[in-house]
Amino acid sequence: MALLPIIVAPDPRLKLKAKAVTRVDDRVRRLMADMLDTMYDAPGIGLAAPQVGKALQIIVVDCARDGEPPQPLKIANPEILWRSDEVMTVNEGCLSLPEHYADVARPSAIRLRYLDEQNEIRELEAKGLLATCIQHEMDHLEGVLFVDHISSLKRGIILRKLAKTKRQKSPVPA
Ligand SMILES: [Zn+2]
Repeated sequence: MALLPIIVAPDPRLKLKAKAVTRVDDRVRRLMADMLDTMYDAPGIGLAAPQVGKALQIIVVDCARDGEPPQPLKIANPEILWRSDEVMTVNEGCLSLPEHYADVARPSAIRLRYLDEQNEIRELEAKGLLATCIQHEMDHLEGVLFVDHISSLKRGIILRKLAKTKRQKSPVPA
């Protein structure tokens, strides 16, 4: 098990567009496993490769509720095939924006095509929290954060607070 450092906003690496994975091979499987360990440790319900400094189209999610068995999903090259007209608003958080939350409205159901960890093409229908979580993680692959869905005023407040916390946490030169 390997825990990867999670990049906190504001950071230019969170703004990059991720590249498609050519093939889900051992290297990609290892990254998926490490990302899942990192996500559970955080703890969080989703993580995208750009959040650990890899500009690749890979996300992991697990939206199982407390007391339910884990339901990990390892997803490469996700593509949304269908979105519901119905939207749902969820108070979202993000491991790259620690301790900040905001209401974001997104389609409440989606159909997705992706490559699984065996490099097989799969399709998945997701609704509710899982649909929200997958869309949030897919945004990271486009360099988009949940704060990009809210007013620039609120976004500015959150990003300034995070930048300030980062400066305070920076190691003192020895
Ligand atoms: Zn996030």
